Amino acid sequence: MALTETVPAAPAHEGILRRQSLRESAARTYARSLPIVPVRARGLTIEGADGRRYLDCLSGAGTLALGHNHPVVLEAIRTVLDSGAPLHVLDLATPVKDAFTTELFATLPRELAEKARIQFCGPAGTDAVEAAFKLVRTATGRDGLMAFSGAYHGMTAEALAASGGAQHTSVVRLPYPYDYRCPFGTGGESGAELAARWTQSLLDDHKSGVPHPAGMILEPVQGEGGVIPAPDSWLRRMREITAARQIPLIVDEVQTGVGRTGAFWAVDHSGIVPDVIVLSKAIGGSLPLAVIVYREELDSWQPGAHAGTFRGNQLAMAAGAATLAYVRANGLDRRAGELGARMLTRLDSLAAAHDCIGEVRGRGLMLGVELVDRDAAADATGARPADPGLAAAVRDACLDRGLIVELGGRHSAVVRLLPPLTITDEQADAILDRLADALTAAVRTTPGPTGSSPTTMRGTTP
Ligand code: PMP
Repeated sequence: MALTETVPAAPAHEGILRRQSLRESAARTYARSLPIVPVRARGLTIEGADGRRYLDCLSGAGTLALGHNHPVVLEAIRTVLDSGAPLHVLDLATPVKDAFTTELFATLPRELAEKARIQFCGPAGTDAVEAAFKLVRTATGRDGLMAFSGAYHGMTAEALAASGGAQHTSVVRLPYPYDYRCPFGTGGESGAELAARWTQSLLDDHKSGVPHPAGMILEPVQGEGGVIPAPDSWLRRMREITAARQIPLIVDEVQTGVGRTGAFWAVDHSGIVPDVIVLSKAIGGSLPLAVIVYREELDSWQPGAHAGTFRGNQLAMAAGAATLAYVRANGLDRRAGELGARMLTRLDSLAAAHDCIGEVRGRGLMLGVELVDRDAAADATGARPADPGLAAAVRDACLDRGLIVELGGRHSAVVRLLPPLTITDEQADAILDRLADALTAAVRTTPGPTGSSPTTMRGTTP
């Protein structure tokens, strides 16, 4: 008897996953926690090769402002393909690039856009971060950089050095206002103000050991760091402190941009105007694209100072321009703010019902649920130790229920929601229903880090 008749063939997706684990690098990430094989996708929904459907709240790590395969994005891509335009043009001028730049500048804070320059970088956010550092170093003639605890700016050498996980770096680290785990023990506005004062004193004390830096880089909402929105007042303080000392302020809006936080750019909430803004992810409408836009006075670097072969992705520029225009025309930034606030209210009631939720927080459709050790005592500020084991169990239980979420935060204990800005109210409810159900199941089956019994319910889930 032939082997095929006695041993049923494994489904194709299992073979694909098995070959992936045999052939791909140990450094792979999402593929480990999300063992699915996407074959089709539309909007919020991904369909796997096994026929299962998932609500995708990872959205390409916050890239898909309009969800998967939005018709305006597909149309923009098709138009370029059908036009016979070259797809690869290095950094030459094209009508597609011209239109993208015009659309992008129309959305940026006017004070920046009126006197701005744009540099098209290699296609990843990290490359644009590197470009920003080079730009400000050249413009100021200084070398040092200031960055924040918990930051994430990318995986290339300098971007990594400015991130919270850096091991060897000369980047000066400043406290980020993390309300729930306030380094000053006060939280709230006063914690943020103390963080600002520490920054100011490092700069003004000539014996602080911190040379005058070439620039400061910050995220208006830390994403990978655990969905931590900075108070607007703190952002304004950072702007005042840097402006008064001629330190270029670099705002990394790679993840917060294009409506995600409830304003077109997260800086719009506070009204600050950065000297350099770093953009990637959603600006390419699901295809790779990264740029920096900066005040023209900084434009003193030389031709070739930041080159790269793949700076002219025409399909990404067309998809990106279509995405920016669609978000703008349909007020999806406002919609993200309103829907995000409603989702946060529901997450608050989830937190009231589960003592394993330390905090829920976020801005717009960038939401996080920090899971903590339900048995540990809270410190003076009310924070308890993170529970990464429970967070991983919640993520897995979500996947079982057809919901894709990822984890972030210092200890990978923050469940993150980054749905497309196009989701309906019903889809938002479906996401939260599945999350609530997954959380209940995970606390039932997962012992606390100290090996204790399942969590106590404080009420009903929303
Ligand atoms: N900055 C921020 C704020 C990010 O969230 C990321 C990616 N998560 C990056 C930079 C790096 O972007 P990329 O992965 O495209 O290099």
